[in-house]
Amino acid sequence: MPVHSELYHQISNELKEKNVTLVAVSKTKSVAEILELYNLGQKDFGENYVQELAEKYHQLPKDIHWHFIGHLQSNKVKLIAPFVHLIHSVDSEKLLKEINKEAKKNERIIDCLLQVHIAKEETKFGLDENELEQIIQALNLANNTSEEKSIKNISIKGLMGMASFTDDEKIVRHEFHSMKSLFDKFSAALSFQPSAFSILSMGMSADYKMAVEEGSNMVRIGSLLFGERNYTKS
Ligand SMILES: *Cc1c(COP(=O)(O)O)cnc(C)c1O
Repeated sequence: MPVHSELYHQISNELKEKNVTLVAVSKTKSVAEILELYNLGQKDFGENYVQELAEKYHQLPKDIHWHFIGHLQSNKVKLIAPFVHLIHSVDSEKLLKEINKEAKKNERIIDCLLQVHIAKEETKFGLDENELEQIIQALNLANNTSEEKSIKNISIKGLMGMASFTDDEKIVRHEFHSMKSLFDKFSAALSFQPSAFSILSMGMSADYKMAVEEGSNMVRIGSLLFGERNYTKS
């Protein structure tokens, strides 16, 4: 299925005007489809599966910014650590430490977002407000005490979240609003890198306009750009 180029330019321009970064979510989509969008000027792409991302990275132009947006297992971090641009889905201290370790091996600093659990559904990954607070405290502590314990090869750039899957706009708007409040609260709490905390990743095909109205500055859009995903054929 060809990429919807007119719609792409329309969305891309609309977001650029508002200083919102567009991440094109290309999971299950082919290298050819990604190239089509790349040739229209898109540089940021998001993937959910480590293996799929690693394969696409090797086949596609090296100036693509690859965003990892799926659930990440610690033992797979090493596969994306050499090249990943931003990991949106950090949901534990253990994972942060693993990312830090692999970043160090690759002599780079990996940018990360902490994934917030805001939707009502039980199935969604992410940290609640208390867990978020604990992680940020642990990071402040580690980086303010010994050099040896410091977590210097990651940079926490902000938060990522998903709203509930519902047609009820009120619920979705309320959840985006809560995420923005958390973002504002925690941007003040990261004592060791206050200015770097600047990304709020929220909004997908169905709800990105509302997310931007509520303060998102990075949206992750898949099906609207690439067409519906077909999981059976991939
Ligand atoms: C698949 C996915 C998206 C994109 O979803 P669409 O509804 O196709 O825009 C965004 N964020 C995450 C975390 C995803 O898994």
